[in-house]
Amino acid sequence: MSSLSLDAVNQYIDDNMSNFKDGLRDAVAIKSVSSTRENREDVIRMMEAVASRMENSLGMSVDLRDLGLDPNYPDGDVQLPPVILASLGNDPNKKTLCIYGHLDVMPAEMSDGWYYPPFELTIVDDIMYGRGSTDDKGPVLGWLNSIEAFQQTNTSIPMNLKFVLEGMEESGSTGLAELIEEEKDLFFGNVDFIAISDNYWLGTSKPCLTYGLRGIIYFHVKVNCADSDLHSGSHGGPVYEAMSDVVAMFSTLIDEKGNILIPHVNDSVRELTPEEDALYYGLDFDMNVYQEEIGVHGLTTSDEKNTLMRRWRYPSLSIHGFEGAFYGPGDKTVIPHEVTGKFSIRLVPDQEPEDIGQLVINHLNYVHSQRGSPNIMTPTYSSGASRAWLGRFENPVFEAGNLATLDVHNVEPDYTREGGSIPVVITLYETTGKDCVLIPMGRSDDGPHSQNEKLNITNFQAGMKLFAAYIKRLDELTRGTGRQARQTSKI
Ligand SMILES: [Zn+2]
Repeated sequence: MSSLSLDAVNQYIDDNMSNFKDGLRDAVAIKSVSSTRENREDVIRMMEAVASRMENSLGMSVDLRDLGLDPNYPDGDVQLPPVILASLGNDPNKKTLCIYGHLDVMPAEMSDGWYYPPFELTIVDDIMYGRGSTDDKGPVLGWLNSIEAFQQTNTSIPMNLKFVLEGMEESGSTGLAELIEEEKDLFFGNVDFIAISDNYWLGTSKPCLTYGLRGIIYFHVKVNCADSDLHSGSHGGPVYEAMSDVVAMFSTLIDEKGNILIPHVNDSVRELTPEEDALYYGLDFDMNVYQEEIGVHGLTTSDEKNTLMRRWRYPSLSIHGFEGAFYGPGDKTVIPHEVTGKFSIRLVPDQEPEDIGQLVINHLNYVHSQRGSPNIMTPTYSSGASRAWLGRFENPVFEAGNLATLDVHNVEPDYTREGGSIPVVITLYETTGKDCVLIPMGRSDDGPHSQNEKLNITNFQAGMKLFAAYIKRLDELTRGTGRQARQTSKI
């Protein structure tokens, strides 16, 4: 059985690298920062520019969907950027792959410590520095460039393709979940698989496929001890102090090794199967390099496997801050009248946010009552909690990624999870019920949210080939008889 050749596609990618770099340069130059009011027009311009290329150059049918006003600005004078819903091909004999990405970026200023102006793509040897280069303009343009390569070389694209591109990812994806729900049976009605390129390799040398993300639930614990702040010289002693209550309560949440002490929170953590255990060997990860990279004085575990497991498959609890507490330099002898302590728990599969939320609240209530303080303690958790996501990596969406990685890189990819949360993954996965893969383009040291964000040219180039190979391999794995029929008709 002859299979689709990507030789011409790969050659086109090699021959057009300078155009592709120019395209990324133009995209980086648009300051599409979603978190600031003054850049909203830039985000909209960014969405329109990409929509125009998709429609006019790549022949896609594009719906630039207006999401109305941004509820984050109560004055009602800020527009949300539109979401791009685009389709290429509508052949009922082909499966449909839907690709998600985002075109907004985090803020960046030269004064943050950038070597080069963040919104001017600067190329030094193999590295392209610029805000959005790796998160997520490079990968999104990479998918579009792959499609261009198919089209310009008259190589037939074996799947129907769809794109969901948003401009609010770095600001909580406002409006997107509602749109996905609305379009569940319409735009997403015939989607078979979902691919997302918005994360990174585990290290710097080996590609990976990502099959899991942790969820998150966020807690606020408010303790009120008086009507107004008091002076410790006058009232220290007879007063039950809010800050002391919060600190005492928080000391019962985790131990020094990061183990969660709240009863039953760990009960729902899934047992480690031998199959999952095997995935932790041979990964492109060195804990000494990791420790150096993040600049900490020590780690709570002693080997690679446990370090990764603690980041990926076990819940973790972090204390983030205290509102109302004195924090400036120097000595201040205030007794704050009200303090709100904040912490979050990264959730893992089988941990339902509601259940964990209730366990934590029960624990806080119990500890507070045992302490016997008359202060008013109000614990709450966020409504925007998100569940963990665990893809089925024995599925074609992963097998195709495995084969495509072998095609392009001559190596089996690492199978990784991420400790963080990408809520849109859960939304897409749960709303459409379709299998999803995270297939990254960039490396672990790309610095997506920090200064000197970069994308290696080699990653950009290989990434485009990987995406082309992915479409080919996914089609081959899932077409069955439909594929044979198509092949005969093609000849
Ligand atoms: Zn991103």
